This record gives sequence, C-alpha cells and structure tokens, in this order.
Amino acid sequence: MQDNQYQPETNAVRIQTARTDQMEHSTPMFLTSSFCFDDAEEMRATFADETDFNIYSRFSNPNVDEFVNKMVALEGAEAGYATSSGMSAVFASFMGLLRAGDHLLSARSIFGSTHTVVTKFLPKWGIEYSYFDMNDPAGIEAMIKPNTKMIFVETPSNPGLEIIDLELLGKIAAKHNIILNVDNCFATPVFQRPITLGAHLVTHSATKWIDGQGRVLGGAIVGKKELIKDIYTFCRSTGPAMSPFNAWVLSKSLETLYVRMERHGQSALAIAEALEGNPHLSAVKYPFLPSHPQYAIAKKQMTGGGGIVCFELKGGIASGVKFLNALKLLSLTANLGDSRSIASHPASTTHAKLTDEERANVGITPGLIRISVGLENVKDILADILQALESSK
Ligand SMILES: *Cc1c(COP(=O)(O)O)cnc(C)c1O
Repeated sequence: MQDNQYQPETNAVRIQTARTDQMEHSTPMFLTSSFCFDDAEEMRATFADETDFNIYSRFSNPNVDEFVNKMVALEGAEAGYATSSGMSAVFASFMGLLRAGDHLLSARSIFGSTHTVVTKFLPKWGIEYSYFDMNDPAGIEAMIKPNTKMIFVETPSNPGLEIIDLELLGKIAAKHNIILNVDNCFATPVFQRPITLGAHLVTHSATKWIDGQGRVLGGAIVGKKELIKDIYTFCRSTGPAMSPFNAWVLSKSLETLYVRMERHGQSALAIAEALEGNPHLSAVKYPFLPSHPQYAIAKKQMTGGGGIVCFELKGGIASGVKFLNALKLLSLTANLGDSRSIASHPASTTHAKLTDEERANVGITPGLIRISVGLENVKDILADILQALESSK
C-alpha cells in the first residue's frame, strides 16, 4: 500500500506504481504475463512468500495493484483484489468465503446475474440462500439462521433504486458475527462508503461508473484483510484476474471519478426534479428526491444520489417500447455509468422472460424506464427525454 495520507480525490489521482528508471510521469502498461528473478534464491524466496515480488499476472501485476490500491484507499478498506468483471468479483466473494452447509442471506433486489449465481449455482455446491425484502429491514434479523455466514446487499439496487440502511445492517452483522458484503456499484465510493458503516466487504463492477466511458470490463473486491486473503487464494488458483490493460484504463478512469460523479449526480437530480409531476409518468424515482421511500436513509448514508434516474410510464410495456423508439440522443444499450446517457426498459429486455409478479418482486414494473445520466449538457438530455415522453402515449 502506497501513501494514503491525502483526501480521496487526491489518492484517486496520485496513488501510483513506483516510477521505473525511465522516469515516466504516467504509469506505463505492464503487459507481461510473468516476471523475472535475478537468481534461483530470489525465485525460491518469492514462491515461499518471503518477498512481495510479482510472479505471474494471474496473481498480481503492477497495473492491477495500482488500481486495487486506489480502490482500497477510496473505500477505506484494508486490502483488495481486482477481477475481470463485476460478476467475477461477486462470485469470488461468495466462493472464497462460503462452503457447503452455509447460508447466504441476500436482498431480493439484486443484479440479474447475481440472482442467477445465488439461485442456480450456489445451491449446486450445497450453499443455501434466502431473500429478504429491502423495504422491510425490521424482518431481516429473524431470517438469520445458525449457519448464516454472509449478508449480501446492493444499495441503491439495480434497477429499482431500492435503498437499505447500511448502518443497521452493519449492526445486525456485527451482533451475529456475519460478513456484510455490499455491492457498491451504483453509489461508487464517491457517494457512499459502506465500510465506514459496518460492511466487511465491498464489491464493484468497475465496468460501470468507475470506467465511466463504456470501454472495458472489470471488478473489484475490497475489505477486511483476512477475508480478502481467502478470496485471493481462491482467485489465484481459479483465474478471474483483471487484465493489466484494463487495469491501466481503469486506474486512469479513477483519476476523474470524483469530478465525473459530481456532474452525473447534479444532472441526474436536475432531471429527476424536472420529470416529477410529468403527466405521462405515474412516478419518478431518485435517491435524493424527497418522494423516494427511503429518502431519509439515502440522505443519511449517501453524499449524492448517483447518476441513475428511474420513472414509470403510465402506459406500461407498450409505452416503454414507444419511448425507446422515440429517443434521438440517448443510447439504447445494456450498459450504464457511461459519459453517454443511456435509456433502458427492463420489462421488454433484461427482465422480459419474467412474469409481472416475478418482476414486481425485484422492483420492476411494466413501464419502468432506467436512465443512466451521462455527461452531455443536461438541457439536451432532458429535452430528448421530454420529446420521447410525448411520443410514448
Ligand atoms: C453490472 C453490474 C454487475 C456486474 O458487473 P459486470 O462488470 O457486468 O460483470 C454487478 N452488480 C451491479 C449492481 C451491476 O450493475
């Protein structure tokens, strides 16, 4: 770990791999699969964990370490590991720490692929799960079993923007000696630092706001040293390592994370406020709108509402399709957290195979539109949404 004595914005810019004898200013790309040793003794000592030299890029790499060191500093964690995608981060956080006979207590409103891992794969290896409702935090403690090993939650959730009190979950986890694992993808460490509220692990899809420009996939897990050690042991042998190229891109991205998120958050709030009360909409959801059901919790644990705004079209599924077709500026694409604004309609795409009831269980209604607010001028983003709403009837 390098110097971590500065403010987060400064650490995001200044934490850097040691300069080589070429005296470069910007970190070079270390596109190498393996690393050399001067002699057999140095190689022996490194394999025996007596040095911290790099061996092989599946284990560690200077670009990946720089990215991890920044994520550790920004989240206020002790250690971390970077992975090839957000899903490999979430998966490794389960597989590194859970064993057959353990029980995972997860929020029901979680990312679609995470839901698949929890319900289709974990049971294959004898790991049980149950889902709790994020809107009923009082019911969670009663769901803890003697074999509950981990609580997993995503707040705000994708795509429903449900929010849960992390301080409360942290207290429950501490009381029962359970690992609290938080997917902090939507808030980023700029707006929410779960470890300061009692989380033991934070997982990220770096593909989203951290990259911020829709270029590369990546993921990260940061948290308590002893937990990361077990996750690292799992990853080192199973191979979900982040590529050095992606790490180089993502570390550069972190240099601008704070200024980008500030703008994403300002524009998203402005759009949410402008849309509230629109005659074509039955609801607008944004963490920092007072009408959000968990507004008080959002204000307590987040310093900004993030870059995602959701709204509900009065006309349901058919209106959602018309709305997407009428957009001229916003992109129709599966990603989020890009400099380009993106619109998506879960009921006709990602969640099309589910029944209305199954969708309702994860906070998705037929007319739900998710906007990932980009870095274009907010007037242009809003104008495109408003004209498309006129065509959505
Ligand atoms: C996208 C996403 C993931 C998965 O990340 P990938 O990088 O696509 O593998 C996990 N959690 C949340 C909340 C996400 O939005």
